[in-house]
Amino acid sequence: MTCHGYINKAGQAPAGASFPVLKHYTTTGDSNSPVQLKDNPFAKEKVQCILCKHGINPDYKNVQLLSQFQSPYTGRVYGRHITGLCKNRHAQVEREIIKAQNAGFMPTYHKAVEFLNDPKLFDPEKAVRPHKY
Ligand SMILES: [Zn+2]
Repeated sequence: MTCHGYINKAGQAPAGASFPVLKHYTTTGDSNSPVQLKDNPFAKEKVQCILCKHGINPDYKNVQLLSQFQSPYTGRVYGRHITGLCKNRHAQVEREIIKAQNAGFMPTYHKAVEFLNDPKLFDPEKAVRPHKY
């Protein structure tokens, strides 16, 4: 089990992003012959939550990561409409936070003071999805 500290949202941009050269078409031979496509040009980009994208498994021992999903004012876990987590990861985060709180690693009614200045993964004022109610 690797222990990531926190994940930085700014550090995610793929370095050296360049546009791929289009090599979908074969220009040799008859122009009426069927076009050979390498891969599906209409393939959708896979939508993944921030934890799935980095392959991070939330763990009760990694309190710093769990604190990033905790409100600094109430100590409650932010909802999925704010964090943008998928159902599995959100349930996992909630489970691990409860585990960490029961083990005494993590405060219950506020965010740990030493993690207050950690980078924010989302804006609580601007939900990524509308609330389900
Ligand atoms: Zn996910």
